[in-house]
Amino acid sequence: MYTPNQNPSERLDAVRQRIHLACERANRSPEGVRLLAVSKTQAPEKIRALVHLGQKCFGENYVDEAVAKIEALADLGLTWHFIGPVQSNKTRAIAEHFDWVESVDRAKIVRRLADQRPADRGALNVLIQVNLDGETQKAGCAPEEIEALAEAIEARPELRLRGLMAIPAPRDGDDEQRAVFARLKHLFDRLAERHASVDTISAGMSGDLEAAIAEGSTQLRVGTDLFGPRS
Ligand SMILES: *Cc1c(COP(=O)(O)O)cnc(C)c1O
Repeated sequence: MYTPNQNPSERLDAVRQRIHLACERANRSPEGVRLLAVSKTQAPEKIRALVHLGQKCFGENYVDEAVAKIEALADLGLTWHFIGPVQSNKTRAIAEHFDWVESVDRAKIVRRLADQRPADRGALNVLIQVNLDGETQKAGCAPEEIEALAEAIEARPELRLRGLMAIPAPRDGDDEQRAVFARLKHLFDRLAERHASVDTISAGMSGDLEAAIAEGSTQLRVGTDLFGPRS
């Protein structure tokens, strides 16, 4: 959990320690869990500090802010994931600057990202965001819509289908929290059976990463516990 007065190195160590413990309990290798540092609202210098400690993958939610940082930090060879809601008028900037987009939830966005991906950047890695909370959450497609979207992504060589992302609402108990991640794992297994490129479940944040690891997450998105509270 986030503790004031820790320096970046202590925070990163604490998160890595939690990941190791959760993997041990789940009988999984920590190598199978990527840590994405969510750097929205954080200044480039704070990102640099984490890079010097070995962190290479970063997640951003706001396109204009992200593009400025990606350009300012271009010398570092980082991998950038777009994790915020995708607006149609921002797809070009996402396609041009990011390595991954984790929040694809409709066919129109698939078409635009593919049309706008520059040929020299290689395929854009895509996760389908799925809504596991029914009507209480707007972002993400319904579970029944995953397969059609997956086929649309796979039909475009500019895109590479990698898996699913979800941001489930916090649940009261540990069992309830795990149950929702288990549903995501089930959807992932079905998708992976039909699409060979699928290898990623993006689930788990500062507050629920243990439950996500227990249920098979392969990528955590952690902001607060790495950077401190957002201003
Ligand atoms: C902000 C954000 C996170 C990080 O959340 P923390 O609670 O700060 O770790 C993860 N995923 C998404 C999609 C976010 O927008």
